[in-house]
Amino acid sequence: MRAPANPSGGRPYLAIPGPSVIPDPVLQAMHRPSPNIYAGELLTLTDSLVPDLKAVAGTAHHVAIYIANGHGAWEAALMNTLQPGDRVLVPVSGRFAIGWSEMAEALGIEVELIDFGTAAGWELSRVSERLSADRAHEIKAVLGVHVDTSSSIRNDVAALRAVLNEAQHPALLMADCIASLGCDRFEMDAWGVDVMVSASQKGLMTPAGVSFVFFNDKAAAARARLPRISRYWDWSPRANPQEFYQYFGGTAPTHHLYGLRAALDLIHGEGLEQVWARHARLARTIWAACAAWGHIDVPEQGLQMNVAEPALRSHAVTALRLPAPRASDLRQWLEQHLGLTLGIGLGLAPPDSPEWHGHFRLGHMGHVNGHMIMGLLGGIETGLQALEIPHGEGALAAAAQVLAETTPA
Ligand SMILES: *Cc1c(COP(=O)(O)O)cnc(C)c1O
Repeated sequence: MRAPANPSGGRPYLAIPGPSVIPDPVLQAMHRPSPNIYAGELLTLTDSLVPDLKAVAGTAHHVAIYIANGHGAWEAALMNTLQPGDRVLVPVSGRFAIGWSEMAEALGIEVELIDFGTAAGWELSRVSERLSADRAHEIKAVLGVHVDTSSSIRNDVAALRAVLNEAQHPALLMADCIASLGCDRFEMDAWGVDVMVSASQKGLMTPAGVSFVFFNDKAAAARARLPRISRYWDWSPRANPQEFYQYFGGTAPTHHLYGLRAALDLIHGEGLEQVWARHARLARTIWAACAAWGHIDVPEQGLQMNVAEPALRSHAVTALRLPAPRASDLRQWLEQHLGLTLGIGLGLAPPDSPEWHGHFRLGHMGHVNGHMIMGLLGGIETGLQALEIPHGEGALAAAAQVLAETTPA
């Protein structure tokens, strides 16, 4: 067995794109005996979560809470809107779009992918063509992943709604915001999203195990037309509970609720606009360092960001390339010697190929600030030096300059 991470003490830093760093107030809120689930504080606390969750999502409509991870929310969103034989269109810019589509397929839904690869976002003219050709309106929903955590591409969900509107197509617009909620600007109602799924362990800074499906009245009407629905996944009682237990279809996820309450207090205490601005600022700081590291004679031999176009980059996760096996070497060195854990590559090379060791990802979602990001970058700089991996100079200075210039007075 390898030596434990962080042998020299100090707090380890998990910089993977979910689960994210859990803030101390969230940890402290969860450290308590089990509460009464029939009366008292937990009931009012749960009621208080609903408007605050909707505010983060930018919706005045409905939210259902599930004791499940993001995959559960994926399934719940599909189960409440579609039935076997229905068709969905999925623009793909990474592994997570494929994952959601595979879940639809397993439920007997006909899936049509438009694959834009893993380095560019949606090409909406092609989505538009396909929707316009669907005169019979066989496509019942378009499934779009806002930030694909594998490629770190951020797609333009509002523009996808515009394409549906121009084609006068009635399909539901469903968005996966598991990696983006509370990190990248997202406005469900303003952007015309009918169903949105998210989960607790990324921008919402709470342990994995609770997830959310937000939906509007158009999606509720689709639910009402279904002949049957699994009792557990049905969003109606969860979104309109007569009894407390209906929120969760059984025992409440008690400690997650306390944690989530603390996390939402952090988000709304800082202000959602400020939270988005902080993520943007810290993402630009990371990009500045990565660009500098990549400045070498033969760029292909060094570190490169997966997404070349800044406008298409997530503010919550950054996927990087470093020729195999150096990406894996760097991750292992940082974990073993600095107590810093980076994310593995996902979806950019087959898991059993040598190239798999040529990718890694940085998570910068949720509870992150300037010193954590500078520590992350300083760690990577140290690893590049220790392993004698070719890299350009001045990355930390470039990062510090961006952070200094963009930090509000
Ligand atoms: C993390 C993630 C998922 C999966 O969530 P789980 O909680 O791991 O099931 C789905 N989509 C995106 C975009 C994600 O980032």
